[in-house]
Amino acid sequence: MVCKPIIFKDKDGYLILKDTNRRLFKIHKLLLEFKLKRELEENEVTHHLNEDKQDNRLSNLEVKKRNQHQREHQLVKGKLSDKKKCKCGRIKGYASKMCAKCYAIKRDKIERDKLGRFKGGLK
Ligand SMILES: [Zn+2]
Ligand SMILES: [Zn+2]
Repeated sequence: MVCKPIIFKDKDGYLILKDTNRRLFKIHKLLLEFKLKRELEENEVTHHLNEDKQDNRLSNLEVKKRNQHQREHQLVKGKLSDKKKCKCGRIKGYASKMCAKCYAIKRDKIERDKLGRFKGGLK
């Protein structure tokens, strides 16, 4: 009997891929390595820019040094400060420049601009 690869959520909320040989892969790590075109080093981890652990779009994944990453997340857990507020007033992650909502708006704008330039180039 052939096992199908499956995807499930681990206890930390990350998506895990189990392949047909029952090996486990963190999907965000696979994708980030694909984006960087290299393997992550021992002291490197994947950071989700909008802090949504299941949002594995390449644009949401960033490589961080393990100790720096931990520090940033600890600050997130710490007291709320102005630094943690986005310019729109929503709470944002310490490590991100804006809240998930503003980030999505900005990203859409960038993608529209890119598309616009592309269309412009075709004229
Ligand atoms: Zn992170
Ligand atoms: Zn915002």
